[in-house]
Amino acid sequence: MEKFRESNGLRRRVLVVDDEMINREILGNILNEHYEVTFAENGRQAYDLLQERDKKYSLILLDLFMPEMDGFEFMEKLKSKGETNSIPVIVMTSEKTAEVKSIKLGAVDFITKPYDMPEVILARCERIIELYEDKSIIRSAEKDGLTGLYSKDFFFEYIRQIENYNQSDSVDAVVFNVERFKLINELHGRVEGDNILCRIADIISQDLEGSLGIGCRVEADTFYVYCYHKDNYDDILELLRQELSELSQIPKVRLRIGVYSNVDKEIRPENWFDRAKAACDRIRGDYTQQISYYSSEQHERELYQERLINDIVKAIADKDLRVFFQPKYDIQSDKPVLKSAEALIRWQHPEFGLISPGDFIPLFESNGLIQRLDNFVWEEAAFRIKTWREKYGVTIPISVNVSRIDIYDPELEEKFIKILDRYELTPNEMMLEITESAYADNANALIGVVKNLREKGFRIEMDDFGSGYSSLNMLTTLPIDVLKMDMKFVRNMNKDEKSMKLVELVLDIAKFLNVPVVAEGVEEESQLSALKKIGCDLVQGYYFSKPVPPDQFERLIEKEVK
Ligand code: C2E
Ligand code: MG
Ligand code: MG
Repeated sequence: MEKFRESNGLRRRVLVVDDEMINREILGNILNEHYEVTFAENGRQAYDLLQERDKKYSLILLDLFMPEMDGFEFMEKLKSKGETNSIPVIVMTSEKTAEVKSIKLGAVDFITKPYDMPEVILARCERIIELYEDKSIIRSAEKDGLTGLYSKDFFFEYIRQIENYNQSDSVDAVVFNVERFKLINELHGRVEGDNILCRIADIISQDLEGSLGIGCRVEADTFYVYCYHKDNYDDILELLRQELSELSQIPKVRLRIGVYSNVDKEIRPENWFDRAKAACDRIRGDYTQQISYYSSEQHERELYQERLINDIVKAIADKDLRVFFQPKYDIQSDKPVLKSAEALIRWQHPEFGLISPGDFIPLFESNGLIQRLDNFVWEEAAFRIKTWREKYGVTIPISVNVSRIDIYDPELEEKFIKILDRYELTPNEMMLEITESAYADNANALIGVVKNLREKGFRIEMDDFGSGYSSLNMLTTLPIDVLKMDMKFVRNMNKDEKSMKLVELVLDIAKFLNVPVVAEGVEEESQLSALKKIGCDLVQGYYFSKPVPPDQFERLIEKEVK
């Protein structure tokens, strides 16, 4: 118990409130050796002392009958204020009848007068201080300092406790998230950001009042709510919308709500919220929808994705993942000439059949597995360049796709160089395709990485150009070697004059940047001849060939070298 007399070399402060000097003296003598004791002669004086912010009291010893402000009135005032209501009070009395009233007002213990057992008094003070300090440590870990909602660990702990008694009730797991909160913080400052979060927490707490529900804040701008099942959440969304528009200077603070209704009690509460969050994430950036319910289709999709994640390593080992090659032809010579190729991944899944990269690339980008997969593709591409050079005596450069995730890998350059060394290639033989939208994610970082790679001799192709992200201004500073025009330009080019003009515009931009253009998705003769006429350099598309396995690609090479 000794530790509760002093902490960090500082003595705990005890406030003794009694109008009789003799009592103050006796208590002072008992406590002085271990505590910093302050005295007040009545409730009023004591209350004033508590207003001094820099002094924190660990315990109050309170007489009940005093002039000016008695102990009862003092306790009422004390308990009504947030800053003081957690200080424990021991009442000093000789009257049994006063005890009941004191307890109702929040006293935690009694010491009876006269004070003839100093050791007992000291022991009681120590015990109460210890108890309350433990409680306040727990309370501070239990609550989120900013909003007063539960912290995550306690939230889940309480859910488990509530569930012990309410197993049969239908409940919902709900996630609230502020759209683009980081931006609000950056543009309007943290104070405004905090204001918004506190207001949301208040509204959530009000909504939960009187019901079984509890709420917590996880991460900066995400709130979890566990509550009785509701048919819809339109009301709370509307309330939040109104209150936030009144509170904030910011034109539109938008919230997203994800709901997992009637949770499955067989699975862990943490998983309920994973599902609610998945529903919430599904409508990120979607300005037509603010509430999203976790559905059985979403569940199916998650299970499917989970399977793909589990299967990827085995798929590489079993050769279910294969690299296909699609040729690119130079169309400005008399007759189209095979110039290079793009490596594209294919997954022949033993159960699901052929899976499109569009289904698994974004999934693997979201969990980092893409690096492994891309490495496999790069290695395979390098192997083919070398094999074909040895077999046919020509070098066919192959472009590989570099995911936006790869770009932030500090070892990216080293990985490429190792692969090139292994297959005795030079950097200009393996070209790197980076999609235009990756440039928009973090232009400066990407430009830095790309500049380095180019200095080492790699050639960079901007993939999907025109899919809508680069500004003209950014284009002039981008270090690139080839523009790959997005497929939609070619698809529309012969439909109307305006679309044709757009293609010409892309070619003009490329000319201005002094780089060649690859047109992707060329399927028809008419597209090819139009592109040739307006000066497009290279073409990739089903017109020449779909992406094909290596042995079929060899037939295309053989046609050229014959
Ligand atoms: P991308 O890099 O823009 O690749 C071109 C896509 O267009 C390929 O789709 C290709 O099969 C398709 N394509 C080519 N010519 C035509 C045509 O004439 N008509 C039509 N309709 N489509 C054509 P795929 O193979 O399904 O790949 C889709 C996207 O997935 C790729 O777009 C690329 O972003 C990504 N991807 C594919 N393989 C890899 C890879 O190994 N690593 C990474 N990171 N991404 C990959
Ligand atoms: Mg590509
Ligand atoms: Mg492309």
